[in-house]
Amino acid sequence: MPVLRSSTPNHTTDYGLEFTPGVARYSNEIDFDEASREWMRNKKRVGLMYSYVCGETTSTGRPCQRRPKKGCAFCATHEIK
Ligand SMILES: [Zn+2]
Repeated sequence: MPVLRSSTPNHTTDYGLEFTPGVARYSNEIDFDEASREWMRNKKRVGLMYSYVCGETTSTGRPCQRRPKKGCAFCATHEIK
């Protein structure tokens, strides 16, 4: 019988990073669009939830959408040497 990882509710990612369910804590003093954009910077929507991505700015000016290396915030290309 195959093990379906998606059926394990406590593990939303494979990267050992915590996922905080979407409760916005930003006050009205903060530009929400900018805060939201910043929050989304290193995350990618996957189905009904978000997955962490590298988020480093690429040569095209867009955040890198590659998966971070395990235990690292950035992908293999952008990890801090
Ligand atoms: Zn990257």
